[in-house]
Amino acid sequence: MLLFEDIVRAEKIVSKHIITTPVVHSKALSEAVGQHIYLKLENQQITGSFKIRGAINAISNLNPAQKKAGVVALSTGNHGRGLAFAANLMKIKCIICMSELVPKNKIEGIKALGAEVRLIGANQDEAQLEADRLTTEEGMTYVSPFDNIDVIAGQGTLGLEIYRQIPELTFAFVPLSGGGLICGVARALKSLNRNLKVIGVSMDRGAAMYESQKAGKPIFVREEESLADALTGGIGLDNKYTFQLTKKLVDEIVLVSEKEIADGIHYAYWQESQIVEGAGAVAIASLLNKKFKPNGPSVALMCGRNINMEKHFSLISLKS
Ligand SMILES: *Cc1c(COP(=O)(O)O)cnc(C)c1O
Repeated sequence: MLLFEDIVRAEKIVSKHIITTPVVHSKALSEAVGQHIYLKLENQQITGSFKIRGAINAISNLNPAQKKAGVVALSTGNHGRGLAFAANLMKIKCIICMSELVPKNKIEGIKALGAEVRLIGANQDEAQLEADRLTTEEGMTYVSPFDNIDVIAGQGTLGLEIYRQIPELTFAFVPLSGGGLICGVARALKSLNRNLKVIGVSMDRGAAMYESQKAGKPIFVREEESLADALTGGIGLDNKYTFQLTKKLVDEIVLVSEKEIADGIHYAYWQESQIVEGAGAVAIASLLNKKFKPNGPSVALMCGRNINMEKHFSLISLKS
């Protein structure tokens, strides 16, 4: 259901619109872990996260009628930004539905990327109803942030890049929420080297995919606030793709605490000169805290940098 060829095809489209983010060798992490550790700096991607890869691929694969009607999403975060950016780039109408409680700066951020923001109701469920209405009554296409094959294939282009940049790679540490990112990356990497291992990293607060894999089916996990806000949320009880793909492609899932995420953000800044959001710090946090010990060259994917800068300043100002 997700083929290597889908990812190769996605790269032909996506690579025209994004930057190939750098990979750097981390001396500090390599010494701490005892293996060569590389960082994939996807925090430097346009819009500040990898989400534009999946969004561009999903929009490109719409048929002409779907393109004319446009796309809709629910996210106030990186997916909303990514889809808004991609839609604007490809001159497609895009509506992002949000609850009226969403902070003004997030609304303005999405509007600035050219999307229409529709504020509905006092919670996510009411915004979901409007998104459903737009798909059924106005023929718009709902784009899931993770449970969509074209989105997964788009995120998988990161795997192709990583393999070219680090051919000797043996382990990849990848942030995990709904699983679109890790499933795409794992499919790409394992097609190129079937001995390569892929480790998912989630926060220990409300780790929906981790709990669902343990239960053997998608389950409801109560959402909790986390510094890694891009990793919060469920995988959908009617999950179509990422639950099964994660089961097949991900070798292990490890969890990090809020303190470990905060320390990861601090470390990324002071040791690597990188600004990352919470989700962007979980892979290095898992290595620093020895949640899983790789026995060969490894990459930690730093997937995003969209953090409130006052929050970031307070975190990096803490003495470690
Ligand atoms: C969306 C997102 C994730 C999680 O991706 P999934 O495909 O839901 O697993 C991780 N990090 C950042 C920065 C994100 O925006």
